[in-house]
Amino acid sequence: MTVSNTPADQEKSDEPESAVETARRQLERAADHLDVDEGIVERLRYPTSVYRVTVPLERDDGSREMYTGYRAHHDSVRGPYKGGLRYHPDVSEEECVGLSMWMTWKCAVMDIPFGGGKGGVVVDPKDLSADETERLTRRFAEELRPVIGPMRDIPAPDMGTGPQTMAWFMDAYSMQEGETTPGVVTGKPPVIGGSYGREEAPGRSVGIVTREAIDYYEWDRKQTTVAVQGFGSVGANAARYLDDLGASVVAVSDVDGAIYDPDGLDTNDVEDHDETPGMVSGYDAPETLTNDELLELDVDVLIPAAIGNVLTAENARNVSADIIVEGANGPTTSSADEIFEERGIHVIPDIIANAGGVTVSYFEWLQDINRRKWRLERVNEELETEMLRAWNAVRKEYEARDVTWRDATYIVALERVAAAHETRGLWP
Ligand code: GLU
Repeated sequence: MTVSNTPADQEKSDEPESAVETARRQLERAADHLDVDEGIVERLRYPTSVYRVTVPLERDDGSREMYTGYRAHHDSVRGPYKGGLRYHPDVSEEECVGLSMWMTWKCAVMDIPFGGGKGGVVVDPKDLSADETERLTRRFAEELRPVIGPMRDIPAPDMGTGPQTMAWFMDAYSMQEGETTPGVVTGKPPVIGGSYGREEAPGRSVGIVTREAIDYYEWDRKQTTVAVQGFGSVGANAARYLDDLGASVVAVSDVDGAIYDPDGLDTNDVEDHDETPGMVSGYDAPETLTNDELLELDVDVLIPAAIGNVLTAENARNVSADIIVEGANGPTTSSADEIFEERGIHVIPDIIANAGGVTVSYFEWLQDINRRKWRLERVNEELETEMLRAWNAVRKEYEARDVTWRDATYIVALERVAAAHETRGLWP
């Protein structure tokens, strides 16, 4: 395992829009509005540690292949590190660090007693069989075992991983520790300590936050048109939530393209990408669009819920939506954000919009360490309460300071994290 934790280690990336650079710019913008000790802001520009591991895998044909895995720990002043594990060919140290910073803010906005972590393996999960994925996951869990734990760092699903991945991860950890430890990861299947409602939670919170934004601007929910890029778990659950609310979801997409019905799609009739890959673009809709066309569609609300960096300086001037609600982590580059601000397009950021995921992860962790299961109704009720609490805190800053929704959200988060650093102090 390699550990890099010095500022110099983190300055290597020259990609202007790497996740860590975007995350740092967002931190600096929020800091400009607050009277936070400069040393604390400087500290928050860097992760506490980044672990790099080599994960050897025996392929089904008996050959061995090496994969690189990471786990970035950004900050734990408010509680154990928390955040997903990603299996994707683009996973890198910079990306994990940036995403771990976002987790720190996400947990702080939600006032959850966790810090920020993120990790992953540089692999395309489509290239692995189920058996290979299981072996890779178990070995990755073993490599990370010294730095994770239910009171230390609690991974969760992210792109390319899901409940079954978490089940293997939890099993591998538990077998080595000699005791069943469900609280070491969240997002598990309910049968082994997962929470009801966890899978739907990120999309559900995108739906709740969109609903609040629609009401804030006093639009008629039933007249509101919505386009959703990405019809996986986040996008599909958000689209279905808004559809149930009466909004008109006119377009949804997967990697292969988008379907469009100006009168509104029946989102429950379209199978999501996780249920059946390829079903979206195969669906019999009045019109089809490319993913780029979907992003520029003249709708009230655009929800990018697929991957990072899809809204850039190249397409930001063509976006026609009035509100963007970020379902994915980091879908908007800093330059696109500036263009949206200039054009008066409101961007509700990922760190509140999809924070239902980590919020129900927290509920799951509570259920695990207390050995007491919650009913789905309780999960959804408490999620609603926590989302409204966070939304109201952000709304207050938005109104009081005349800033963007993103800045208001970061101000709430940074204020809480900085106060915790100030109160705990620096030692040794
Ligand atoms: N990967 C999810 C996120 O980006 C969930 C993290 C968690 O539940 O810990 O928010």
